[in-house]
This record gives sequence, C-alpha cells and structure tokens, in this order.
Amino acid sequence: MFSSGSQRRACHAGWILLVVMLMGTAVAAVPIIGDPAQLLKQADSVKTSDHPEFVQLMKRLGAEVTTLSPQQRMRLRYLQAWEVSYQGDYEAATPLLNAVIAESTDATLRFRVGTTLVNMLSNGSHYEEAFAQISQLLDQLPQITEKDARIQALGVAATLYNDAGQYDLGLTYANQMLRENPGGDGGCKARVFQVQSLYESGKFASDEQSREAIDACSKASEFLYANGARLYVAGFDVQHGQSAEAIKLLQKHYAEVLHIGYPELVSQFDSLLAQAYWNEGELTLAQQYALAAVDGGLKHEFTKSRTSAYELLYLISKKQGDVDAALTYHEKYMAADKGYLNEVSAKALAFQTVKQQVLAKKLQIDTLNKQNQILTLQQKLAKKATETSRLYIVLLVLLLASIALWTYKIKRSQLRFMKLARRDGLTGIYNRQHFVNEAELQLHYCRKSSREACLVLIDLDHFKVINDTHGHAVGDRVLRRAVEACKAHLRSTDIFGRLGGEEFGILLPECSLDQAIARAEQIRVAIATAAAGEDAPGVPISASFGVSSSVHSGYELRDLLMHADEALYRAKREGRNRVSANDSPEAFLKMA
Ligand code: GH3
Ligand code: MG
Ligand code: MG
Repeated sequence: MFSSGSQRRACHAGWILLVVMLMGTAVAAVPIIGDPAQLLKQADSVKTSDHPEFVQLMKRLGAEVTTLSPQQRMRLRYLQAWEVSYQGDYEAATPLLNAVIAESTDATLRFRVGTTLVNMLSNGSHYEEAFAQISQLLDQLPQITEKDARIQALGVAATLYNDAGQYDLGLTYANQMLRENPGGDGGCKARVFQVQSLYESGKFASDEQSREAIDACSKASEFLYANGARLYVAGFDVQHGQSAEAIKLLQKHYAEVLHIGYPELVSQFDSLLAQAYWNEGELTLAQQYALAAVDGGLKHEFTKSRTSAYELLYLISKKQGDVDAALTYHEKYMAADKGYLNEVSAKALAFQTVKQQVLAKKLQIDTLNKQNQILTLQQKLAKKATETSRLYIVLLVLLLASIALWTYKIKRSQLRFMKLARRDGLTGIYNRQHFVNEAELQLHYCRKSSREACLVLIDLDHFKVINDTHGHAVGDRVLRRAVEACKAHLRSTDIFGRLGGEEFGILLPECSLDQAIARAEQIRVAIATAAAGEDAPGVPISASFGVSSSVHSGYELRDLLMHADEALYRAKREGRNRVSANDSPEAFLKMA
C-alpha cells in the first residue's frame, strides 16, 4: 500500500474553495417578466444554476439601466462584478466589488458583496486581504438578518479557515451554519464543511457524518457537494486499507463527476483513484488516473491532488525501471510539493498575520476606548469640581452671612449690655456711674463756653415708711412714677440719673440758679401730685430738693454734688417737701 508522510491524509480541500463562490440559494426559476426588481431577483437566483439564463437577464437589465432605481442599479453593478469574477478575472472584479461596498447604502448588499470579495481575494491568492475581509464580515454578522447572506458568509468563513489549517474555527462556523439552516442546500454545504474540518484535522473517526452529508446534498440536488463528500469517504477508506471499497465508490460516481465537469473535483477523483489502484497493485490503472489527475485544466497550478499524482507517477516509473521518467516525475513532484506547501504556508501565515493585525486593532480600539473613558471621567471630574466650587461659594456665602448675622447679634447684645450697663434697671434712667460721666462731660463744655450749669439733687421723703407700709413692690412703683414725673419737666439736654436708693440727680446745662430752682419747684409739685394716690393710699409722697450752681460751686461735679447735698440736707431739716439752694439762705423756698 502506498503511503508517505505528506500523503497520510489525502487532502481534498481544493475542490471546495473554488465552488463556494458559486453558492447561492437554489430558487425555482421565476418566469421572466418586465419588472426590473423581478429581473434582478431572477438573475441573482439563477446565476450559478443557469448561467446562460443569467447572462441573458443581465443583457436585458443592462439595456434597461435607465429605468432602475439607484438601489436596483447598485444591485446590478454587484451582479456585473460577480460575472467578471465568475469568468475568473479576479483582478478586474475586485475593484468593482470594492466600489459597490463603498457606494451602496444597503448594509445587506454590502455584506453580500464582501462575502463574494473574500472568495475573489482568496482565489487570487490575496490571502491576507481575504482574512482581513472575512474578519470584518464576521464582526458585522450580528447586524445581518437576511438568512441567505448569513449562510453565505458562514460558509465562506468555514471554508477559508479550513483552508488555512484553522480547522477548529472552520468547524465552529460550519456548525453555526448548520444550526441556522439545517435543511436544503445550506444544510448540505454546512455538513460537507463539518466533514472537511474533521477530516483535515484528523478527527474523522468514521464515515457516518460523510454519509449524512452525501444524503443531504443528494436530496438538495447539490451533486458537486455530494461528490466532494464522497472524496472524504473514499479517502478514509484508502487510509484504512479499504482501497477496493474506495475504488468502488469513486468509480460508481466517476461518470457523474465528469458530467459536472468541475476540473478540481475531477482531478481529485483521478488522484484518489490512482492512489487506491496503486495500493491494490494495479499499476497501469494507477498510472492512467495519475496522468489524468496532473492533466486537468486546473486553475491552481499546485494542488494536493496534482502533487500526490506526480509522486505516484514517479513511484510507478521507478517500479517500471524507467529511470528517465522517474527522474522527470520526481522533479515535477518536488516542484508541485514545494509549490503546494508554499501555498499552504502562505495561507497559514496570512491567517496569523491578520489575526495579529485584528488583535492589534482591537487593542488599539480598547486603548482608544480607555482613553475616552479617562477623558469622560476627567470631564465629569471637572464638572464635579465646578459644582463643588459652586458649593464652596454657596457655603462661603452662607458662612459669611452667618458670621455677619452673628456679629450683628453680638453687636446688638453688646449695645444692649452697654445700654443696660449705663441705665438703672428699675427706672430706665442713667445709673450713677453714667450720670457722673455725662454730667462731667457737660460741665466741661459749659466751662469752656462759660455757660452756667446747675445741679439738682432729689431725695424722696420718708420713703422707708412707704416700703414698710405697702411693701417693696409698691415702693418700686412709686420710684418709677416719681421718675416719670421728673422727666415731664426735663429738656433733652438735661442729664437725669438715679444716684442711689430713692435719690436722683439732674444736671441742667445753660441754666441759671433761678431757673433751676423754678424747675425743681415744678418737679416737686409734679412728684407730690403724681406719685401719691392709688399706689400708696394714705401715705403722702413728696421729695426734697437741693440745688447748686456753677456760679457758686464751680464746674467740678464733686463740688456741685457736695453743695447740692448740703442744700438738700437743709431742705430735709427744714421740714422736707421743699427746694433749697446753696447760694444764700434767702434763696430757699419753703413750700407748703
Ligand atoms: P428721709 O429721706 O425723708 O429722711 O427718710 P427716708 O425714709 O427716705 O430715709 P432713708 O434715706 O434712710 O431711707 C431710704 C429708704 O429707701 C431705704 C430703703 O428701704 C429704701 N430704698 C432704697 N432703694 C430702694 C428701692 O430700690 N426700692 C424700694 N422699694 N425701696 C428702696
Ligand atoms: Mg435717702
Ligand atoms: Mg429719703
């Protein structure tokens, strides 16, 4: 049995890659009608199943381009680009597809074009661009709702990743594709991609899954895919010493494969048959199929089937003793193997490169997001700071206001205290200390301006008796009445104070002794009439007055007080309820 390291698993990936681009929903032919929307839909649905019809429809649409809406025109451009790529001119098709992606506003159409582009890029050996494109499409997949577009992209992803040796990824997308569309042609293709992933990664344990795939594809009339799956069944048989079984299967469907006429598939059937015949010792048949395998009109120069066939031809020639042929085939085998391996490693490298690029981009986006977060945070902080400083200002204003209020209250209570400190608590007039201060100040002014000032001392008569008879409270009331009676006869410039118990003093600036005596007399009468009465019934209330003048006593308060006191003493002695002055005895007025 033939075996070598590189041939341990016959690889059949090649046939799939080129046919994926042919994927489309198998739709029953719609009768041609004039509506451009219908024409477009029909052209799209028959583009692979009935290509001549597609070409016809495209000609009609091209002629009626002026009647199409902008969106319809965009769809037509996509189909035109698709046709260019179908003809194998990938270099021309790629910019056309890119232009549709750039100009279309229809997200689903852009997505479908992107999928086609992945195939173009991959078939044109632009692997890096293909992987970058599929990675972008897969990012967009969550936003795409159209089932056909999703299935197509998942199929392309499964194939491309399988092809780059990323079988786990390939299997993931094949599984997703099957979940989203278990029936019909999509289900068939998804199953074939699953089998491909498992087979290529060496996880293919039995041919059961392949048979399921073959059944699904036969039911969906997807004969190309059904035969592709048969390659995995036959390959599995060849690997497990069942070459006769493989030959039986491949030969049974060989005519059908030739009829389908897809060169890659034919070449792989030939190559696998050659290997099976070689294993069975059928050299002539092995050589015949190997030659057919290298001869096909393959688009790709270096394929696994061609490499494998050259190796067989070399071995057959060697066995036949044809040294020249053996050498020639060996050289071709080496070149094909090298070319194929280069292709494989180019794909794997492209995949890794794009993976790194995508990672780097994600990292960059993450970094930008982080920077954005930081900026947002800074903005919030700045806002907070403004709010905080506003709060500080408000607090400061409140603080200042409360300090001002506090100061005002302190000042007010200070003033009140000062006033209280200057006033007598019972009568509200100046207390002794304040009276002395104010009187001295006035005397100072009077002295400066040489104006006469008089001092009157008042002492209530027998006040003790009032207290003793009516109680202290009544005594207080009498005191207040006496004060009120005095006030009624005072000028604003006069200084009035309580000097002790029931003793008062009045300084009268700019007042002669006569005037002072007359004023004292008025007050005496006022006290005698006002203070008596209801407060202390039955007890006569009166006061005695002593008057002194600056003319006789000078401007010193002490002297004025002393002389007034002497006069007061005299008034008391002479019978009370009278005014006495200290200038001369004639000045004393005796009141009744
Ligand atoms: P006179 O001056 O006529 O000789 O007799 P008097 O009774 O007024 O004598 P004195 O000056 O000795 O007594 C004053 C009394 O005044 C003594 C005290 O009980 C009373 N007194 C002093 N301060 C107050 C006060 O604020 N309220 C009351 N109710 N009585 C006071
Ligand atoms: Mg007294
Ligand atoms: Mg008295």
